[in-house]
Amino acid sequence: MSPPLEKIMDAARRVSRAYRIEQGRTFRLNQISPGDTGGAAKSVIEIQWQAKTFLDFANAQLATLQEKLYAQKRWSVLIVLQAMDAAGKDGTIKHVMSGINPQGCEVTSFKVPTGAELLHTFLWRCAQRVPEAGMIGIFNRSHYEDVLAPRIHPQFLQARNLPPSLVTKKIWSERYEDINAFERHLTRNGVLVLKFYLHLSKEEQKKRLLERINEKSKNWKFSESDIQERARWEQYMAAYEETIRATAQPWAPWYIVPADNKWFTRAIVAVTIIDALESLRLKRPKNPKEQKKILAAARKLLNKED
Ligand code: ATP
Ligand code: MG
Repeated sequence: MSPPLEKIMDAARRVSRAYRIEQGRTFRLNQISPGDTGGAAKSVIEIQWQAKTFLDFANAQLATLQEKLYAQKRWSVLIVLQAMDAAGKDGTIKHVMSGINPQGCEVTSFKVPTGAELLHTFLWRCAQRVPEAGMIGIFNRSHYEDVLAPRIHPQFLQARNLPPSLVTKKIWSERYEDINAFERHLTRNGVLVLKFYLHLSKEEQKKRLLERINEKSKNWKFSESDIQERARWEQYMAAYEETIRATAQPWAPWYIVPADNKWFTRAIVAVTIIDALESLRLKRPKNPKEQKKILAAARKLLNKED
């Protein structure tokens, strides 16, 4: 007999906490294997997690929590998703958020900056999309792109036309500082910040890119740039590692989620969000004292109708 879903959820929470990095100084990407599916807890949860039942169960919990978040309008949640191509950002958003009310959630995909975005500071476009109280905001790529892509492709930094005296060797550590201050500001004002790095292996990426090439129905997902970026895999890994080391903070932790198995990635992201939302002890707003009278009067009026 399989264990009850609540028990699996508890085990899943314990597993998800192992991927939480809130103090980056000693962090190394190779501490967590992209193929990991829960280590010691595997035997208890793996089979269940593969089943759609677990995600359905998690989604129902997420829906209840989101309703409270929305009703209370005190906190908001910012979910940041970063990863190499084909790591499963889109699928994770689709599956994990499938149960929640679309009115309470906003997804923003950040692409190569253009126009006004280039004329403002790098945090500007992201600050504008931070969710308001009661809302869940998902950043599909984020302000973190500005310490990744331009590092590997200097033309992205040149495109900003910054005063040359400001473009020094220190620019990346200065940006980390700015990001930390920005996220500190958000968390001090009721925005819960959850940052996910979907940790994909180079081999699994090759498999997924080949699927996009070989399966006609997946051709639309393929972009030539995926191959060009893949060629710089090691540079990206180094930049990601340094970024996570510099920006994992107790108030805005990074979750390094193994991404070679999609079912596992989705389950871990769902459980992490549930865990974090529960820590807020969300409550629907209390009915005001006079509410009882108002309801009674309204009931009377409605019942009088023929
Ligand atoms: P998918 O490929 O799964 O559809 P994606 O997030 O890769 O999703 P794309 O449209 O392929 O979306 O790519 C967006 C591109 O924009 C990425 O290559 C990313 O590195 C780039 N990008 C985003 N923000 C910045 C930035 N601030 N500076 C430079 N490049 C950026
Ligand atoms: Mg892409």
